[in-house]
Amino acid sequence: MLDLTYETPKPKVIAGARHDWELVIGLEVHAQVASKSKLFSGASTQFGAEPNSNVAFVDAAMPGMLPVINEFCVAQAVRTGLGLNAQINLISAFDRKNYFYPDLPQGYQISQLYHPIVGEGEVIVDMGPGIARKVRIERIHLEQDAGKSIHDMDPNMSFVDLNRTGVALMEIVSRPDIRGPEEAAAYVAKLRQILRYLGTCDGNMQNGNLRADVNVSVCRPGDYEKYQETQDFNHLGTRCEIKNMNSMRFIQQGIEYEARRQIAILEDGGTVDQETRLYDPDKCETRSMRSKEEAHDYRYFPCPDLLPLEIEQTWVDDIRDSLPELPDEKKARFVAAYGMTEYDAGVLTADVESAAYFEAVAEGRDGKLAANWVINELFGRLKKEEHTISESPVSADQLGGILDLIAKGDISGKIAKDLFEIVYTQGGNPTEIVETRGMRQVTDTGAIEAAVDGVIAANPDQVEKAKANPKLAGWFVGQVMKATGGKANPKAVNEMVSRKLGLS
Ligand code: ADP
Ligand code: MG
Repeated sequence: MLDLTYETPKPKVIAGARHDWELVIGLEVHAQVASKSKLFSGASTQFGAEPNSNVAFVDAAMPGMLPVINEFCVAQAVRTGLGLNAQINLISAFDRKNYFYPDLPQGYQISQLYHPIVGEGEVIVDMGPGIARKVRIERIHLEQDAGKSIHDMDPNMSFVDLNRTGVALMEIVSRPDIRGPEEAAAYVAKLRQILRYLGTCDGNMQNGNLRADVNVSVCRPGDYEKYQETQDFNHLGTRCEIKNMNSMRFIQQGIEYEARRQIAILEDGGTVDQETRLYDPDKCETRSMRSKEEAHDYRYFPCPDLLPLEIEQTWVDDIRDSLPELPDEKKARFVAAYGMTEYDAGVLTADVESAAYFEAVAEGRDGKLAANWVINELFGRLKKEEHTISESPVSADQLGGILDLIAKGDISGKIAKDLFEIVYTQGGNPTEIVETRGMRQVTDTGAIEAAVDGVIAANPDQVEKAKANPKLAGWFVGQVMKATGGKANPKAVNEMVSRKLGLS
């Protein structure tokens, strides 16, 4: 049912001083699993808790403490893999990634290098109606997060907060299939949307629940196609990795800066060093954090405290059966079922709550009219006041009530907007408001006729003009609407005016 025909967007080309260059980008996204407890302990993951209040003995690496895998976190990784059409590995294993850092009391991070729980998948990244890029996912593995060192609380001391130590992360690694800064941001946005639909990560980038390491290289036109044919990385340029990006805007700015920096080096006859860099949003530039020579030797080895993780196919199937309708499917269904544009369907399916709201309004009503009202009136109004759909003062029932009044001919589209404004600011039942405030549309031909006669009698000059030029009849319609306080049925007025002026 999903229409997968789309055009592939062109790669971003940057003109250097000597020739053109193309960008190649691959992302490693760290998504915090939406779990109440940590990956290997029962400690809480609550954000913003008192420092060091959510730390189990195993998180603090007390001697003799053993990690116990959290089944819920494993299920979320599987769920995410299924949501990304990925291969689920029934056997995976945890490895120790050894390094010393004060916020990592164990002296190693438990991760999955050799046998990740999720293998190859894909994300369809929308770049406008009918234009999308398929970005391949290489793997997703489960790992622990580290704690937080705090250096700015005291001039002489550093502090450590271990609340985040041991929180479950899913590292989602893409292939280098992304071809520009906007695409990279759109990829992260699409991934976040899917994770939120699945409920496996809340995607809050400000809290650091979703952050990306962004790998950037540049190549000459044609080289990327050779890489795609052969999967041989030698056709691509040397990459640099920009660490820990947690804003869509910074991701784009960082990539743009980094690509231009590499192009300048290459055109100058130099070579790009493979290194890890940090983005400085104040200066809008990246700077070196560590070079390949300084790269850690993590001495990965299988974690002896944990057995290989074996899951059952039936368990995976149960998770698959519980998957919700995902954004691409929902969008395609909205286009097909309600006859709306892909653009509108994209707006309405941006998040689960908006889509559910729309469907509640559209149920048993004109879908196109419902889409129009939800997008233009409601979303427009909510956006102005920076409210989310869950904070909407107008419920789906109330908006549906307004649409019913339009459909029955009780109110005109124009009065409906006034009514919407009343419901939005003061609440209430739309039908009752129309009754008590006398907003009902006048369809009574006697009353309309009287108003039309009045306007015609008062404007003999205009009558002569309109008879010569029927286009001017609209002026009479406007006058009658004014005289009736906008409540006259516009169609009835139109007909009556034409008849009285002898135009029909
Ligand atoms: P490492 O183990 O050094 O992190 P990976 O093979 O895991 O290397 O790759 C890390 C990320 O770098 C992946 O997301 C991948 O798509 C990306 N990547 C690899 N080569 C390139 C390249 N030439 N240009 C841009 N990104 C790349
Ligand atoms: Mg990597």
